[in-house]
Amino acid sequence: MNLPSVILKKGKERAIKNCHHWIFSGAVESMPSFENGGVLPVRSAEGEFLGYAYFNTNSSIVGRMLSFDETPPEKAIEESIESALALRRVFFDESTNAYRLINAEGDRLPGLIVDRYDDVLVIQVATLGMEKLKRFVIEILLKKFSPRAIYEKSILPSRREDGLDDFEGLIWGEPVETVEIMEHGLRFLVEIPGSQKTGFFLDQREMRRFVGSLAEGRKVLNAFSYTGAFSVYARRAGAVLVDSVDTSERAIELAKKNLYLNGFDAGEDRFYVQDVFDYLRRETPAYDFIILDPPAFAKKKVDVIQACRGYKDINRLAIKRAAPGSFLLTFSCSFFVAEDLFQKVIFEAAREASRRVRSMQRHHQAFDHPVNIFHPESAYLKGFLLYID
Ligand code: SAH
Repeated sequence: MNLPSVILKKGKERAIKNCHHWIFSGAVESMPSFENGGVLPVRSAEGEFLGYAYFNTNSSIVGRMLSFDETPPEKAIEESIESALALRRVFFDESTNAYRLINAEGDRLPGLIVDRYDDVLVIQVATLGMEKLKRFVIEILLKKFSPRAIYEKSILPSRREDGLDDFEGLIWGEPVETVEIMEHGLRFLVEIPGSQKTGFFLDQREMRRFVGSLAEGRKVLNAFSYTGAFSVYARRAGAVLVDSVDTSERAIELAKKNLYLNGFDAGEDRFYVQDVFDYLRRETPAYDFIILDPPAFAKKKVDVIQACRGYKDINRLAIKRAAPGSFLLTFSCSFFVAEDLFQKVIFEAAREASRRVRSMQRHHQAFDHPVNIFHPESAYLKGFLLYID
């Protein structure tokens, strides 16, 4: 490619040399004229070639690196997709056919998420640069994967900053509604159109398996249950009671179906279309295993204080309600609430509840959501397994 380059300010090449994907507008010394969303070479102030990035002058993150060497951008994209697929092949066998195939910067593909639901792919495009590369990416996915359908669910606040409207709909293949997937040998129905995230909370897969290893003989509360995935694992493990609470009626309906689909008679279990805060404030059964997996309370940096109040309330209520000898598996998926802050919040909740609480383990997003260690911005999910004496 013989294109004019974007030149960085002196010293600003350091982050790029560390394989951090983002170029902030303040780091740029000069840019050639180009159409927003286009790919350009990037050079240091001294003229050293650093790689290729796509650029958008309307975004505060003005550039996102696609390659960190001389590899031409399209070849780099193809190699990154191939490497993402190879990594998944190491971890998954036929007992799990739903996982994140491509995790944006964590797989060296900024702005792109691709989730596999059996033979259906769901993609999310976060930026104008990736939007312009979408056709090319889809061709590669078709070649490597032969899916039945590719559905796009690009409903993301970041798109507005990039001047893109939200988009949801089928972009290739036959129409899809509900897909049945397999996760660790369990079956789940995933509604693709109109659902939360891309359809299923793939990032909690390993935690679900973990719940399966601890739930035997326990009375389980799955709070913020969505479509009951934790509930199904708890049932398979031999929990004596599994209650699921979520404000979404549609999610609760699907939770019931998912229990039946796996051969569990949901007769004993209860499903509540309710606010978890209200539910925990009322008289509840004496649970000895509570799972709290709320949505992100902090969607923006300015929400952090309010979000921490929410996390503290919900954890205090759960810790108060927990029977002696209980497990509490508690999560935050707010990127802006760092792990040490979340830890302080739950420890404060334990103090306010006047209970003795021990921290047993920490948890993070599942391994199909890799994080580029030089780009920690992709780590968002944190959780603690607590034991309440
Ligand atoms: N643990 C689930 C994912 C939970 S996602 C899984 O493994 O699949 C968070 C869920 O919380 C969503 O289903 C959303 O509908 C629900 N939710 C959001 N606010 C809520 C509230 N105040 N009370 C109950 N449920 C809520």
